[in-house]
Amino acid sequence: MAGLATALATSRGGHEVVLLERDAGAPAGGDAAQVFESWQRTGVAQFQQPHNFVGLGRRLLRDRAPDVSCDLLAAGAVEVEQFRFLAGATRQLGDENLATIGCRRPVFEAVLRRAVEAEPSVDVRAGCRVTGLALAGGRSPQVEGAVLAGGEVVAADLVVDASGRSSRTAAWLTAAGLGPVAERTSSCGLIYYSRHFQLRDGVPDPPYASVLAGPRGDLGYLAYAVFVGDNRTFCLCIMPPPWDREFRSLRHPDAFMRAASHLPGVAAWTDGDVALPITPVLPMGQVTNAVRRYMTIAGSVAPGLQPIGDALCHTNPTFAFGASLSLHHAFKAGRPSRGRGRSRQSGSAVRRGGRRGSRAPLPGGHRRGPGPGSSLAG
Ligand SMILES: Cc1cc2nc3c(=O)[nH]c(=O)nc-3n(C[C@H](O)[C@H](O)[C@H](O)COP(=O)(O)OP(=O)(O)OC[C@H]3O[C@@H](n4cnc5c(N)ncnc54)[C@H](O)[C@@H]3O)c2cc1C
Repeated sequence: MAGLATALATSRGGHEVVLLERDAGAPAGGDAAQVFESWQRTGVAQFQQPHNFVGLGRRLLRDRAPDVSCDLLAAGAVEVEQFRFLAGATRQLGDENLATIGCRRPVFEAVLRRAVEAEPSVDVRAGCRVTGLALAGGRSPQVEGAVLAGGEVVAADLVVDASGRSSRTAAWLTAAGLGPVAERTSSCGLIYYSRHFQLRDGVPDPPYASVLAGPRGDLGYLAYAVFVGDNRTFCLCIMPPPWDREFRSLRHPDAFMRAASHLPGVAAWTDGDVALPITPVLPMGQVTNAVRRYMTIAGSVAPGLQPIGDALCHTNPTFAFGASLSLHHAFKAGRPSRGRGRSRQSGSAVRRGGRRGSRAPLPGGHRRGPGPGSSLAG
């Protein structure tokens, strides 16, 4: 998400971009249903989990990439005007920005990816795993590129790490004797059990009543939410705490559907006359908050490297900050440089997983990153 958006923003800001992504791309030409059913991503554990794209992300796309905004709506995404739930409250300027995008994540990402692939100054390399960083020698080494699984070095003026929650850059820097990259983490105390549904033809949209699109609530012993998706789909997510093992039976469809029928407001959505399930129950644990600090009092631990998105900071997904913050980071990174306007800066690149930098070979005499399995140190 952050890598794609950075590639879009930086290429449109006048830079050349290489996007390195270990997973395969979206199926060519498929509609939303085909994309959702057939696009397998092992690189993003939460790929099929429900996502709300909140006001910040919607506004950034509307203002900075209006073509992507339009393409999302054309692909079947919906805008949910949250300000309508303000009931009798007096409207204020800016309330109109309190709108979210309802869309399944694979469909959202496929639209963003197609926009990136259409940019002439982006070289998207799928199936490309980054295994290390290329460092220049010296007392305070500069990151000069990314090392691929086959040992190839892709050089860069700036390397953007958009490799998500499991980013390895902190470990690579530590192995090279750099850092430390301070990290703070905490468990979010919940497990996601999600199931996507398709509303039956001819059935009107069920009523919804609260902020962020659907029936949602916290019963004290579990939380739940309905996420409105594209093309008359929705997802029910039930979130018990990991320590209450009895709730693990929610991974079984019968138990999930029984629980759903008892959740306030949910039966109006999941009743068999209203909607049909289109996935099994999708469990996801290990949900954490984390922030990594690549700056010390002496400055950046790795000049030439810019971590963004979840690689830098990830937050409790129930707040739905992550995707929008990734877009925010991307559009900040992609601001055109002052004085350069939209002109191309030769040799810069963005890599998904992810990096931005020049495609020229590293200058001789620089210490390069290692081949697969070796250490950056020494
Ligand atoms: C259960 C759950 C629910 C969520 N719900 C929401 C929500 O409702 N709203 C919201 O805004 N956010 C939500 N989030 C957060 C959101 O998913 C993330 O914030 C967002 O995906 C971050 O984007 P990213 O690009 O930084 O990382 P990712 O989306 O994880 O992308 C990382 C990319 O890097 C690639 N990669 C990784 N390692 C390498 C490598 N070595 N070489 C090459 N490529 C590599 C991966 O294949 C992947 O494409 C949720 C998160 C979870 C866990």
